[in-house]
Amino acid sequence: MRNACAESESDTVLLPNVETATFQEFFTWLYLRQLSEPLKTTGAERMRLVKLWVFAETYIVPEFQNAALDALHKSLDKHDSMPAPSVINYVYENTIYRSPLRKLFIDLVLEHGSITSYFDPAKVRPTPIDADFCQEVLFNYALRYEDEGLNKTQMEKAWDSRESCHYHVHNVKDTVASLDIPSKNLI
Ligand SMILES: [Zn+2]
Repeated sequence: MRNACAESESDTVLLPNVETATFQEFFTWLYLRQLSEPLKTTGAERMRLVKLWVFAETYIVPEFQNAALDALHKSLDKHDSMPAPSVINYVYENTIYRSPLRKLFIDLVLEHGSITSYFDPAKVRPTPIDADFCQEVLFNYALRYEDEGLNKTQMEKAWDSRESCHYHVHNVKDTVASLDIPSKNLI
């Protein structure tokens, strides 16, 4: 949306790096307080919701952020297929360490999905997956399975019993100052 900081010369507010579709959806949400109907393909749906979440975090609109999270959580819970590497990469390129969105994807892969779907060397994936994601998955796998001694059934139960509220932003400080939060409570 063109370059920022030109609003003093016109009545236009410019938002850098925001796709028109994302802003349109935010604008609609402002009036209706609900997200538009899901798209038909789940892959595109996940990318759309992740972009809404990142937009909401950037412009500090926690209510919109949580609405996007709820829809995303529902989509991830409902469908067995794991998100495409492009979705994971977008999340990791646009969020900081310990972001609730990263936490959601780590929990998903460890508790509800399949780690091997991303790391099976026999599978050729055209999109390389983010190195930080790989590292966090490996670390959390070791933490939960080896240090805490959890098994697959316990992990699946943890996912099933957790509401999407667990990943909400209830305080803007959760987003902006998350680096101060002790790591034990996160990811
Ligand atoms: Zn909540």
